[in-house]
Amino acid sequence: MASVIIPSNPSQPTAGRFGVYGGRYVPETLMAALSELEQEYERAKADATFQAELDDLLHNFAGRPTALYYAKRLTEQLGGAKIYLKREDLLHTGAHKINNSLGQGLLAKRMGKQRIIAETGAGQHGVATATVCALLGLDCVVYMGEEDMRRQELNVLRMRLLGAEVRGVSSGSKTLKDAINEAMRDWVTNVRTTYYVLGSALGAHPYPTMVRDFHRVISREMKAQLLEKEGRLPTAIIACVGGGSNAIGAFYEFIPDKNVRLIGVEAGGRSGELGEHAMRFQGGSPGVLQGTFSYVLQDEQGQIASTHSVSAGLDYASIGPEHAMLHDTGRAEYTSADDQAALDAVVRLSRTEGILPALESAHAVAEAIRIAPSMQKHEILVVNLSGRGDKDMGILARELKIQGSNA
Ligand SMILES: *Cc1c(COP(=O)(O)O)cnc(C)c1O
Repeated sequence: MASVIIPSNPSQPTAGRFGVYGGRYVPETLMAALSELEQEYERAKADATFQAELDDLLHNFAGRPTALYYAKRLTEQLGGAKIYLKREDLLHTGAHKINNSLGQGLLAKRMGKQRIIAETGAGQHGVATATVCALLGLDCVVYMGEEDMRRQELNVLRMRLLGAEVRGVSSGSKTLKDAINEAMRDWVTNVRTTYYVLGSALGAHPYPTMVRDFHRVISREMKAQLLEKEGRLPTAIIACVGGGSNAIGAFYEFIPDKNVRLIGVEAGGRSGELGEHAMRFQGGSPGVLQGTFSYVLQDEQGQIASTHSVSAGLDYASIGPEHAMLHDTGRAEYTSADDQAALDAVVRLSRTEGILPALESAHAVAEAIRIAPSMQKHEILVVNLSGRGDKDMGILARELKIQGSNA
């Protein structure tokens, strides 16, 4: 593991740093590729043609803008704050991930890279990236832990149907962290021809900034929709936090609005014991994992701890570096919901609103269910519903013991 060099003056903004967090802790062979990516991304960002092409695809292909939906029955049942749902679950492929995959896919095309690689946990980022590669005519290889392939078989089939090659990873815990390792190994070897589409606001600079920028559209829309519907800003925005991409997308435009509470929800898993959850801010400490300096679940020797969550998308030992800064400065609050609370929230939202949320998103719903009753009726809560739950039906059937007969 690289030694951690902390900038001498953390209050001075440096590219790729969020306070002391972030940075670029990678093998030397990747430094040139990351610099090239950073420069090309900066150019694309300033290029009106690139932005117009991305906007067109977000609108006509992915289905933006997504609705800001007033959850009337849930609000009335809880008897407190007014609850809105930002419906990222309605996007093409079923989650917010497509915002980022479209952005990076266009960037790869602009850079003349024909071969795309990606990692995936639950398979949502893999499906989104395989979809974008089909759309843009790019070759696609997705690394996925064998344990995740077993848990999310449907998404493996979807990726293969879309023309992607899915490569099983049998090292370590055979989950997301191992898939990222394998994707990075591929990238080191094939860096000249290959673009790595990273799926969350993680990894070495420029990924955390770039992925956040591609998801900013969530809070931009949210703000405009709230001002139109309510004429004011919300009391709080709630989002689940795996690597942190849907949360940073939902928070970003509200960071300057100091009266808006930003609440991130981590996976509480089975218990508070190390290895049984993915609460980086409660059980973790600053360290380096996979290219970036952030909070990490680790033992005293700095070995990465194993994690658990009923939702594969939140089951990761580190968290995006911008969240580490928002945590330390107190601008955002981080809490957790355990497996049972998430499962309960899936059932509750399904039966009160007719909306089946992803198990990841259900962690944010659980927090709204927890805090809404003690809030005033004029207060507004916005839950970022990051994805839909169809992918989780196998797990839900097992966990909730839903069988062929009625529950
Ligand atoms: C991948 C995923 C997440 C977790 O990733 P973030 O980068 O933290 O957003 C959350 N919800 C859904 C539906 C996902 O697919």
